Amino acid sequence: MKKVVVAEPIDEAGMKVLTGKVDILISPNPSGESVGPLLRTAHGLIVRTATKVTRSMIESAPHLEVISRTGGGLDNVDVEAATESNVVVCGVKGPQDRFVAEHAVTLMMALAKQIFYLNREVRKGNFKSRYEYRPMGLAGKRVGLIGLGRIGKIVAGMCHPLGMEVWGYDPYLTPEDLHLPGLVFTKEREEIIQTSDFLSLHVPLSHETQGLIGKKELDLMKPTAFIINTSRGEIVDEPALIEALQQGKIAGAGLDVFAAEPPDLHHPFFRMEHVILTPHSGALTRDAVAQLAEGAAQNTLDVLEGRKPSYSINWDEVARKKTKG
Ligand code: NAD
Repeated sequence: MKKVVVAEPIDEAGMKVLTGKVDILISPNPSGESVGPLLRTAHGLIVRTATKVTRSMIESAPHLEVISRTGGGLDNVDVEAATESNVVVCGVKGPQDRFVAEHAVTLMMALAKQIFYLNREVRKGNFKSRYEYRPMGLAGKRVGLIGLGRIGKIVAGMCHPLGMEVWGYDPYLTPEDLHLPGLVFTKEREEIIQTSDFLSLHVPLSHETQGLIGKKELDLMKPTAFIINTSRGEIVDEPALIEALQQGKIAGAGLDVFAAEPPDLHHPFFRMEHVILTPHSGALTRDAVAQLAEGAAQNTLDVLEGRKPSYSINWDEVARKKTKG
């Protein structure tokens, strides 16, 4: 039987798919130091978010055929190194999209309505906090979506019925790709950043998008605007964001993702009242977690048994290379 390393616990629905079909090697923890040695005899690897699959891990795994992630973003895998070694890298897209979109909208609403502040004040006995008039309405406010792929589109569809002005920017799409009621599609990146009340990020992490929102962009934002990041921490230049929040250049942030995860306990975000933090949990509803694990396990078996997985970033290229010999 072929061997599959599971780098960190996945939902039992995924384990069920693998059981009896492959030998399962469970890593004691997701670190490269633990996963790397197990890979030397393995044919497949299943990862979530915590494992960084490096070139040296891939090159020290002579039998490896597939790296499968329980999600759509594949930025924690060195895809170039995998492709060079004819290792297929696959992910699961779909089950999580709506939940991540809901998460982004929830962060927007919680910031707008000051839910966390008011909840705390009521519990402290400060019922008079109602007279601080901190909450604001969403209707009439502009949400700027950077990235109009699977998740960005759903956020657009959710914000329109709330009465928000929905603007979207995506350099790889044309208006013909998008049939979304109420969406103002723009190619003007600066304008969307400058005019949005909520700037919500929905792009994949790549060399191009790393630091996409930096000091220059934060300086352009309205001082009353909020930034929402449910994509990847590195999309935003974190030191620049901290400075913008400390200096009141923007009103606040809703963050599900961080440059380093988990963030250090002394991270300045932890001391900021106007920032809401969640632990990269946008996709992690009970239903989605089972479906994502099942999908990652099925993709692994598909590749090991010679079938095309449901979603892969390099299947075609690896297949082409193998045909050429
Ligand atoms: P997707 O691939 O469907 O869409 C991404 C869109 O970004 C594409 O339309 C692409 O054209 C666009 N894009 C690329 N570069 C851009 C740029 N420089 N400026 C503007 N747009 C650009 O991806 P998706 O499924 O919608 O996921 C979006 C993000 O959400 C990814 O980063 C993914 O990793 C993240 N995500 C987070 C969670 C979570 O738990 N928080 C869960 C799932 C996905």
